[in-house]
Amino acid sequence: MKILVVNAGSSSLKYQLFDMETGDVLAKGICERIGIDGAITHKRPGKEKYYTEASLGDHKAAIELVLKILCDSQLGVISSVDEISAVGHRVAHGGELLRESSIIGEKELEYLESIVEINPLHGPPAISGIRACKSVMPNVTHVGVFDTSYYSTVEEKAYIYPIPYELYEKYKIRRYGFHGTSHRFVCAKAMEILGKKDAKVITCHLGNGSSITASIGGKAVDTSMGFTPQEGVPMGTRSGSVDPTVVTYIMKKEGLTADETEKLLNSKSGLLGVSGVSSDCRDVLEAQNAGNKRAGLAMDILVHYVKKIIGSYIAEMNGLDALVFTAGIGENDGVVREMLCKDLSYLGIEIDSEINLKSERGVQVEITKPGAKVRTFAIPTNEEYMIALDTYNLVK
Ligand code: AMP
Repeated sequence: MKILVVNAGSSSLKYQLFDMETGDVLAKGICERIGIDGAITHKRPGKEKYYTEASLGDHKAAIELVLKILCDSQLGVISSVDEISAVGHRVAHGGELLRESSIIGEKELEYLESIVEINPLHGPPAISGIRACKSVMPNVTHVGVFDTSYYSTVEEKAYIYPIPYELYEKYKIRRYGFHGTSHRFVCAKAMEILGKKDAKVITCHLGNGSSITASIGGKAVDTSMGFTPQEGVPMGTRSGSVDPTVVTYIMKKEGLTADETEKLLNSKSGLLGVSGVSSDCRDVLEAQNAGNKRAGLAMDILVHYVKKIIGSYIAEMNGLDALVFTAGIGENDGVVREMLCKDLSYLGIEIDSEINLKSERGVQVEITKPGAKVRTFAIPTNEEYMIALDTYNLVK
């Protein structure tokens, strides 16, 4: 069975075609500058990358081009669109009702439209991508896989904010959590290795956006992101959690509107905001090594917040079996893992520095120091495969 995974952004559409019998990616690529001019990059394993510019007015034009290329006699990997059994769509926000991966019909689309207000950045392009794919492939099952749905098991005490309860009732202001598909994937991998059904696992998805999730037996009990992906640890350009009064004080002092303040906290803060160098962890580390004090401070703050969350989740779960690092920084950066795991021996976390620093990029590795109570891993995430798998399980 072949499953197409689609991730539609405001001006982009990423795709991967999976053969579910083998788990192989047959082809993948990205349409960019949709609605501006348009270009596509298409890759097949072992073959040269194909790039061309093409007029892409909207998501429908983009998916039409993707299907044309997938079926092309030179560039393609299938002979007809009929070979695609289902399409799995990445959707950031499933709100309170779409609590698990679901087949998307009109009712589901209308619900997604009704929650656009709480998901203004990612909601509209995801809906437009699904509508486009459904119009071009009307006879194929379309499945939505939601970043939020992994958190449907989180208890009220962890998702209701301590603000007037009516605000939750009126506006659905609560913690939702994001990156759930990634956390679910790497947590399941760790559980496979541990072979323990009720394992307590903390997964650290550390990339440009970062979140930390606590799970027991493969079910989320808490996560660092909240109402939006802005809450939690400092990220590339996002502040993460700050005292709410800081927000209103900045607005008053700088004369900023609500939107301008959101932008400041979303795009000008985090590693970039503190270091003044870059939002990219590699650049910030390089600057730190060259003696840039603010770059060093930005890294210290990141490490400080991540460690505090790890500690709080161990308290929340009353123990820990495994700590997992994933995403751009977590998978690849042994130096940051070293900083994060330092002085956590009281909590049972100790890593083997030699293995950790020598580990290859993007390769699954256990970095536990022999004898340590908690097992620590770097596990590459694969959200697209998880989306394909959920889609396969719903249609097979
Ligand atoms: P992501 O959002 O998962 O793509 O991760 C982006 C972040 O990962 C950036 O801060 C990069 O600096 C970091 N990153 C990506 N690759 C590496 C690498 N090989 N070594 C260190 N950091 C990396």
